[in-house]
Amino acid sequence: MTRRWRRALTHEGRILAMALVAGLPGTLVALALLWVGDYTTRLQWTLTCVILLFWASFSFAVREAVAHPLRALSNFLAALREGDYSMRARGARSDDALGLAMLEVNALGKTLREQRLGALEATVLLRRVMAEIDAAVFAFDAERRLRLVNRGGERLLGQPAERLLGRTASALGISGCLEGDSPRTLDVEFPGASGRWEIRLSEFRQGGLPHQLLVLIDVSKTLRDHERQAWQRLVRVLGHEINNSLAPIQSLAGSLQSLLLREARPADLEDDLRQGLAVIAGRAEALGRFMTSYARLARLPRPRLEPLAVEHWVRRLVELETRLDVEVLPGPPVQVRADGDQLEQLLINVLGNAVDAALETGGGVRVGWSAADGHLELRIEDDGPGISDTANLFVPFFTTKASGSGIGLALSRQIAEAHGGTLTLESRRAGRGAEAKLRLPL
Ligand code: ADP
Repeated sequence: MTRRWRRALTHEGRILAMALVAGLPGTLVALALLWVGDYTTRLQWTLTCVILLFWASFSFAVREAVAHPLRALSNFLAALREGDYSMRARGARSDDALGLAMLEVNALGKTLREQRLGALEATVLLRRVMAEIDAAVFAFDAERRLRLVNRGGERLLGQPAERLLGRTASALGISGCLEGDSPRTLDVEFPGASGRWEIRLSEFRQGGLPHQLLVLIDVSKTLRDHERQAWQRLVRVLGHEINNSLAPIQSLAGSLQSLLLREARPADLEDDLRQGLAVIAGRAEALGRFMTSYARLARLPRPRLEPLAVEHWVRRLVELETRLDVEVLPGPPVQVRADGDQLEQLLINVLGNAVDAALETGGGVRVGWSAADGHLELRIEDDGPGISDTANLFVPFFTTKASGSGIGLALSRQIAEAHGGTLTLESRRAGRGAEAKLRLPL
């Protein structure tokens, strides 16, 4: 019964009913006493009117006192919902139930205002970044219609965004970029530009629907720069090495010739000739050796992968190193799939360098390995002088040693990369010396 009442009446109606019920017994008793008592009819009617008026008007006043702040509160919340954050609820105070609600609502408004401002600023920043970057950015919806394009994208397709948005990827001629691996590089010709592009594809959801984000980066210039730098370095080192052999050959040939042209031939002419020719032969041979190692570097065969136990491989090569006792640090018993001959060559080079460096300072060499994230990490640590210039270390033929070839590190890195791994060499952070790090997939 009461529940049905409750449902039938509004909140205000219920408050009014309760106020009326609260005043009802007092009113009834007062009226009964008034009408039973011995009063003039005029007084009876006047007091009846006064009692009823007070009863009704205060009941209505109670209803308003409850309903009014609630109405104000809902107006305020509606304004917030519509994004108007300029309003403030009045009567906020912490020592009063209604005031507390107003206080919280004001705090909510402030938080929403700050969040909205943050989101707006982030959007402006994103727009600015999108406009400024050289890369072309496109976003496609589930039907492969273009939903977003930046200035780089407009340049690439040679048309303003208004003409591009809403058209399908195939109509725009870039549907090929939305398939295949990512990232990858591709030679493509677009209406606005052509060259070599790095293509990056990723997915995101908007409104619960899958979208594709396509980013195209022009790598032609970067690649050309890298190629040019590589050639320049190579030519520099080759030139240096060839000159080292050619200059003595040239000057010796010149002086031997002038000896032969002299009228009075010196007594030890034969000795001079023999010595000079020996030096020329030696230099020519060195040049030959240099060319052989160059060919080895340029024509590294594909690795033949077989299981290789890391500990066995390390210990065997450490034993081959007779100039110094290399310490082998304990490591986990792991196996890699690798070309045994090539990895042997790699470790001989790197270990040889470490021992060369350690012998310079009278320090030691340590080899250790660990396995994590599906990779083997082998570290070769020495107490040598460390590395001052890391820029040229892996450049073919770069060497600081009198009898060095400068091939070791370049070849070792090629071997590591052919196995899907990496090889780095840098000065140790803690202590003196260098640390070579070889990472190979397990
Ligand atoms: P090479 O040993 O014939 O000089 P590499 O390519 O193996 O050729 O090494 C190139 C150069 O890198 C060396 O000449 C040396 O200057 C430097 N290097 C290599 N390993 C180390 C190391 N452990 N400590 C210091 N320098 C090193």
